Amino acid sequence: MAAYTPMIQQYLQVKADYQDAFLFFRLGDFYEMFFEDAIKASQELEITLTSREGGSEDRIPMCGVPYHSAPNYIEQLISKGYKVAICEQTEDPKQAKGVVRREVVQLITPGTVMEGKGLSDKENNYIASVTSFNDQTYGFAYNDISTGESRVTLLSNNFEEVLNELAVLSAKEVVIASSFDGELQKKMRERDILAISIEDNSSIEMNFSHLLEDLNQDKLKQTAARLFHYLYRSQKRSLDHLQPVTTYQIHEYMKIDYYSKRNLELTETIRSKGKKGSLLWLLDETMTSMGGRMLKHWIDRPLIKQEEIEHRHNLVEVLLNHYFERQELREKLKEVYDLERLAGRVAFGNVNARDLVQLKRSLMQIPFLKQTLLGMQIEDVNKIADLLDPCEVVTDLLEQAIVENPPLSLKEGNMIRDGYNLQLDQYRDASRNGKTWIAQLEREEREKTGIKSLKVGYNRVFGYYIEVTRANLHLLEEGRYERKQTLTNAERFITPDLKEKEALILQAEEKCGELEYELFTEIRETVKEHIPRLQALAKTVSELDVLQCFAQVSEERRYVKPQFSTERRVVIKDGRHPVVEKVLNSQEYVPNDCFMDNDREVLLITGPNMSGKSTYMRQIALTAILAQIGCYVSAAEAVLPIFDQVFTRIGAADDLISGQSTFMVEMLEAKNAITNATQNSLILFDEIGRGTSTYDGMALAQAIIEYIHSRIGAKTLFSTHYHELTVLDEELSKLKNIHVSAIEHNGNVVFLHKIKEGPADKSYGIHVAQLAELPQELIRRANEILTALEQKDAQTEPMTKEQKLQEKPVGKTIPAKEKIILEEPFSEQPAQLSFFDEPKEPKRHE
Ligand code: ADP
Repeated sequence: MAAYTPMIQQYLQVKADYQDAFLFFRLGDFYEMFFEDAIKASQELEITLTSREGGSEDRIPMCGVPYHSAPNYIEQLISKGYKVAICEQTEDPKQAKGVVRREVVQLITPGTVMEGKGLSDKENNYIASVTSFNDQTYGFAYNDISTGESRVTLLSNNFEEVLNELAVLSAKEVVIASSFDGELQKKMRERDILAISIEDNSSIEMNFSHLLEDLNQDKLKQTAARLFHYLYRSQKRSLDHLQPVTTYQIHEYMKIDYYSKRNLELTETIRSKGKKGSLLWLLDETMTSMGGRMLKHWIDRPLIKQEEIEHRHNLVEVLLNHYFERQELREKLKEVYDLERLAGRVAFGNVNARDLVQLKRSLMQIPFLKQTLLGMQIEDVNKIADLLDPCEVVTDLLEQAIVENPPLSLKEGNMIRDGYNLQLDQYRDASRNGKTWIAQLEREEREKTGIKSLKVGYNRVFGYYIEVTRANLHLLEEGRYERKQTLTNAERFITPDLKEKEALILQAEEKCGELEYELFTEIRETVKEHIPRLQALAKTVSELDVLQCFAQVSEERRYVKPQFSTERRVVIKDGRHPVVEKVLNSQEYVPNDCFMDNDREVLLITGPNMSGKSTYMRQIALTAILAQIGCYVSAAEAVLPIFDQVFTRIGAADDLISGQSTFMVEMLEAKNAITNATQNSLILFDEIGRGTSTYDGMALAQAIIEYIHSRIGAKTLFSTHYHELTVLDEELSKLKNIHVSAIEHNGNVVFLHKIKEGPADKSYGIHVAQLAELPQELIRRANEILTALEQKDAQTEPMTKEQKLQEKPVGKTIPAKEKIILEEPFSEQPAQLSFFDEPKEPKRHE
């Protein structure tokens, strides 16, 4: 190390504390990176790798980015899961003896992004911390540093619960102790966690005990403290906007595990992983970013307390019935900026004057919102109005202090209004007077010299000057003007008077700039004192926004207010899958009923592929979820129980091609449902058992149905292509068959998408194969095999109920089916043909 230059030594010292981050080392107008960092960064950011002398024999690899474009590069690195430590010069280079002092001023990580593209308006950016306790329970805390919200809970020893919470929050980063189990860390990474950070609660005293005041358990305190330790240590600045951490319990909400959330496409679709096509996308009629985030939060955590749900429904009803007031609210909400994040940035110290003007304009909407709400004269709405605190002190201050259109920069002045500060006004007068004097001078000089084109101008290098074109130079009085600069066509001069005024003006302007900055900082500090009020206001505004959004969507899409049944009854008339309906446009969508009660617990759904089985199943789940987040539902009439949990096993199309591992996932999901469901849960199983051989699959499917039917009693929708299972209704009293109807027309299947009672009579699989344009020859052959099978079937004596249950619960046609296929020349091909296999030229059957 001794061989290195002092600056490189300084670099290495700082870097030693930030091994897991890129160190952006400020050198003049650049952030430079050295050694390994430089090599990696040049690859990740596609910037040129150079090198420099550093005292050692070898040159040191180096690359850098200009400081003004750094945010872009930082975002790129963060989005890839890296961390960036910003190391600034912390003393004036002119005053420095030796190497300028440099310190890391902030560590930016995926979970602590405060601004920029990395932060999407309608999504929270969460960082979580997990603490593993000796009794195998897990403490779980999370925070969004841009909004200041933090919550903490205790989870059971089932690590799935931790993974589930991370998924619900789409957390980007997790903070853990260095002793945390490596296997579990791996599991977290598999669930899209970008960064895992270590925080062993160093002994350094941190000033956040006030945030933990409301926590009454040591485990909760420890977990939250780990998170705050990390945040304070990495951010190194005021985090005054952090709100006291509150506790929550996962069983206070409807539980939807990670897979089910994905399967139901609540906030993103499976294929594109984007919002478009999800329930969130359908519902998002919010007018503010805060409302957008709240909507996502509500979808992620549907309620289970009837009172709370009905409270939301009632408010939606009022807003639905007050069309004009709702439009007025929407208009006003549109003008409300992100109060929550503005408050965060005020605390963080990175707001500019424009942000404060936005804050003021937002606050100015609040009285209007209040007025509109009060105008409805409904008690529950009045309560919301009462919670809307217009924070007049802040509005008044900003109105008096800050001009309407301030510049972005805090150093240029022109932010503070005239009349706000006497001293500032005096400086400004001086500067303005000086400028008037100069305008006057221009007029006088023109008159005196008779040069019409003479002008007085200004540039940064020479200051004020008098400019005269070459052709007119002879008109100038000798000795009065001092030549300063020569241009092609003109000469520039100064006079002692002009220089004197210039000094006054520049001095006044400099003072103005300094004073404005000082005043601005003062104003920001005053606003900072009101952060808790602003945050409370933001919360009320967000909720109001989501409620109006529900009313708006419910009106547009003709949703109805659901009723809740205490007898676990499901009565849905003309229900629709909300998203499919929107995508298809309403005329084409075939509405369907659903009826379940204590005698109809399990619905076994048969019907051709592509007929609408899984759409129907999802539709029921989405209806329940819509109801429990407080929205109206996509049906003509709906009575629902309150479901405590929703489980789904719905195969994606790609499951057809993959083998064992998909089947394993299928079984894991089944296990999850079966071990956790209660009789108040909703289970959707789509084609379970498909991923294995027919025998296995059907046996498992039947066993699972029996288990749910007899042991759990959860409301269950089970779709299957094993027609043999439809006889189960004879034995299982609460199981009923339903099917999706289809008709055959001129040899083609027409799907009616209509749910009917009873089992389907035909599978129509071959017709779907035809639709998929498999070779005609193959289709003909399939029909032959089918006919043969059916004939064989007819010859065999049907099995008695007892036989069926005791010996082979699965249907009797299976052995024949498999045998025939294997004996046929087709046997070279995989036994299960799927649409995704390359169509091969089939061998001719002799
Ligand atoms: P299955 O699960 O039976 O294979 P899906 O539920 O995937 O079938 O439905 C196949 C397609 O049929 C869907 O993509 C959808 O466009 C359409 N569909 C399903 N249900 C309806 C309905 N009720 N009305 C109109 N179209 C529907």
